Amino acid sequence: MNQTADTLNVFAEDKSTGNIVHVSEVLRGNACDCICIECGNELQARKGEARRHHFKHITGTECDGETILHKLAKKILVNNRQLALPNQEGYFQYAEVIEECKLESIRPDIILVTTTDKVLIEIAVTSFITEEKLAKIQGQSYNAVEVDFSSLPRECSYLELEKILIDQIDKKEVVNWKGEQLKVEKNSGMTYFLLFLVAIFLSWVGYSKLKNKKFRKRRQRR
Ligand SMILES: [Zn+2]
Repeated sequence: MNQTADTLNVFAEDKSTGNIVHVSEVLRGNACDCICIECGNELQARKGEARRHHFKHITGTECDGETILHKLAKKILVNNRQLALPNQEGYFQYAEVIEECKLESIRPDIILVTTTDKVLIEIAVTSFITEEKLAKIQGQSYNAVEVDFSSLPRECSYLELEKILIDQIDKKEVVNWKGEQLKVEKNSGMTYFLLFLVAIFLSWVGYSKLKNKKFRKRRQRR
């Protein structure tokens, strides 16, 4: 396991519950009862003094854990079906999430599929989109967003990771967007219209009550 992947390996799967856990949430050593998200092999939680706490494979393995954050990102995107993007109002909705597939000559980390289009999601952990890849994305006119996971907070939990990926926009960069072809499902217009109707109705009710009162008072006077 190389230095980068090792220090980043703070997430694992709880063997008994299947939940994603952070190294800070588990017992030290083999008692953590965790397996690797990438290869499924057993892990131990290294929680010593000298190094940042992390997970390490118990038996020697070729697995370098480099796609763990990609796998977590996919899981989070599948569970949410919407995310905030810097160039979109509200949340961008999608129906399907595809991982690691080939699109023409591009191999994006994740593809979000809507009823009308696709958005390529690149998860940058140790490497960012190359000039060559960007040229291909622009050449094919794909919508593409790069998510910067290279400098996550030291003790970033799964929930915080989810917040960064779904709710925040500061770690996302729209590297290409083809424009109007994508229809973001927005219902805010409809909501405002309904609120407007309710407001009219309420003021009408209020007005007629007031009118009745005045009318009754006038009648009582007579
Ligand atoms: Zn592994």
